[in-house]
Amino acid sequence: MTSTPGPLPTGSTIGIIGGGQLGRMLAMAAARLGYRTAVLEPQADCPAAQLANRQIVAAYDDPAALAELAGLSAVVTYEFENVPVAAADRLARQVAVFPPPKALEVSQDRLVEKRFLNGIGISTADFVPVDSDADLASALSDFGGSGVLKTCRLGYDGKGQRLFRDFAGDVDGAYAAMGGVPLILESLVSFEREISVIAARGRDGSLAAYDPAENVHRDGILHSSTVPAAVSPATAELAGRNAFAILEALDYVGVIGVEFFALADGSLLVNEIAPRVHNSGHWTEAACAVSQFEQHIRAIAGLPLGDGARHSDSVMENLIGDDVTRALALLAEPDLLLHLYGKAEARPGRKMGHFTRIRPRA
Ligand code: AMP
Repeated sequence: MTSTPGPLPTGSTIGIIGGGQLGRMLAMAAARLGYRTAVLEPQADCPAAQLANRQIVAAYDDPAALAELAGLSAVVTYEFENVPVAAADRLARQVAVFPPPKALEVSQDRLVEKRFLNGIGISTADFVPVDSDADLASALSDFGGSGVLKTCRLGYDGKGQRLFRDFAGDVDGAYAAMGGVPLILESLVSFEREISVIAARGRDGSLAAYDPAENVHRDGILHSSTVPAAVSPATAELAGRNAFAILEALDYVGVIGVEFFALADGSLLVNEIAPRVHNSGHWTEAACAVSQFEQHIRAIAGLPLGDGARHSDSVMENLIGDDVTRALALLAEPDLLLHLYGKAEARPGRKMGHFTRIRPRA
């Protein structure tokens, strides 16, 4: 089922697959617009369930749990891209599922994703599928000894990656060391900066985008997002146009995150797409009237989209692991919005919260 005419009535339940911080912030936005939420997540008392009206504690592909979620919900969405496609397809036969399961299929596999992007005229890093040491040796020699080897599936925050720089050695065993799964070697992009665009498409096909954020990663995890990004107006506009082309090609409904490498000549390569609200869009909570979370709820509920305009310039920083001990000191600063995710244990590498500093637009 893909179309439910008219806006979702107030009081309807929105189903959310995944119970992390993104689900939590979606539940908050849904509540503000008068909706109820039900979360499907195997971990009890997860960040999203602390704020949702209901949690179904079960695996994401549990047929009985999916049927229960479909029965409760007027529309179902998800907060992470590794929702099993079969589960999303099964749900879509019973209830509207946004974004469409096709977006999951494309974003779950780097090879499928790059072919899709190139197929609609969007540039990416050069890439070669790698299914053996011999494939790797030949791909590395094509790329002059440098490249980033990645698992096609299930990599995130820099996990499942190996960097080769001017490599002339023996790759024997490298394929098995990555788990013996399908891999992709990407050419090593010497980008000037990394930017991302958060964009949305409504059920009526309307489009909106936020200004690009400039992202800095540490140890493969997003550290900060600064808006405006230090790119030319033409590059910013190109990023938005690329995001809109992706949304239209997927007949998408909801918010999408598109990550780019910005090159010195002003051109862009898409690194990856995330069919969901995105960490590099958290700044919109503090610097825009309509946040990415509300924008997603508006889109899937058939409400008018916000226009994406920002009232402030902003810098968002993640609080990872023990960084969360900074919370009290941060609260003493003016023009700072702190957001904690309700996670009990601050393990290394775990996203515990974020904060956004705003200042008047330059
Ligand atoms: P990913 O998991 O694909 O988002 O990669 C994590 C980070 O690794 C990116 O944000 C970049 O900083 C870096 N990276 C990934 N792929 C490449 C590439 N082909 N060339 C240069 N840097 C890359």
